[in-house]
Amino acid sequence: MKMNNLSDCYTLSNSVEIPCIGYGTFKVTDNELVIKTIQTAINIGYRHIDTAAIYDNEKSVGHAIKSNNVVSREELFITSKLWNSEQGYESTLAAFDKTLKDLQLKYLDLYLIHWPVVKGHKEDCQKSIMDTWRAFEKLYKEDKIRAIGVSNFLPHHLNILMANSETKPMVNQIELHPGQNQSETVLFCQKNNILVEAWGPLGQGKMLNNPTLKEIAKKYNKNVAQLCIRWSLQNNILPLPKSVTSSRISENANVFDFEINNKDMEIIDTMPYSGGSGLNPDNIDF
Ligand code: NDP
Repeated sequence: MKMNNLSDCYTLSNSVEIPCIGYGTFKVTDNELVIKTIQTAINIGYRHIDTAAIYDNEKSVGHAIKSNNVVSREELFITSKLWNSEQGYESTLAAFDKTLKDLQLKYLDLYLIHWPVVKGHKEDCQKSIMDTWRAFEKLYKEDKIRAIGVSNFLPHHLNILMANSETKPMVNQIELHPGQNQSETVLFCQKNNILVEAWGPLGQGKMLNNPTLKEIAKKYNKNVAQLCIRWSLQNNILPLPKSVTSSRISENANVFDFEINNKDMEIIDTMPYSGGSGLNPDNIDF
């Protein structure tokens, strides 16, 4: 589907609609700043907010949602993520309750397992993932979450989940930007009707001075951030750009009035690896 504005949606495999650009909140912990920036984002038209227990801002995100007088809760799509130390059945249920309480919400739109392999569980990651997923399935069946998914999962992690569960993940949120196209994981997800979300869609800022991207962006009278976001959309990927700067929050949403041509898409699709975090989901130590 061609997206024309921030409230246009992708449709998940369970038919839930998810607004096509999410507003990222990583590293924003100051209460006033969280409230101010989310208010700005909502005023501009963002309807999708991405947070996580580990970001230490769920309470502030909750205040921001509650105190806004532009949209109702139902018009917003709120994602959070289960932190690594809480993987396991009972611990997931408890962590979810805390997330919901901190966000002052009655339900979440999307809940993700933040990382597949966590500290201390490299050997038994299969059990850890499946215990966690059973809790996700329970919460989903109880209508406490509208969609469930994962983050930073590679195809071999997704295979574990899909071979052993009733409910397939609806989303996989991975590090993805020009210069880190994750083609194998994207292909796997798209074949299996799992929507791919891009974290670090601007390479966490590192791609913004890339000469190839600068040259292409100039042709369209856009900046590199806008090019990166548009590139995600044209690849049927949902980007989650983060900014605390009002002008950037606005320009990151101004991506619906141009189309990257096939030749430029191919150049960006095939750019060599550059600008990633270097994190390997099989080898993280947090
Ligand atoms: P991004 O790729 O979104 O880059 C954010 C950086 O780019 C900030 O320094 C921001 O600066 C800057 N920036 C944003 N827009 C512009 C612009 N138009 N021009 C110039 N600079 C700009 O990185 P993130 O790591 O924040 O990723 C996005 C979101 O993805 C996170 O906020 C989080 O929600 C999610 N995420 C998920 C992870 C996971 O493991 N699932 C891991 C990491 C992130 P400033 O804010 O100062 O304006």
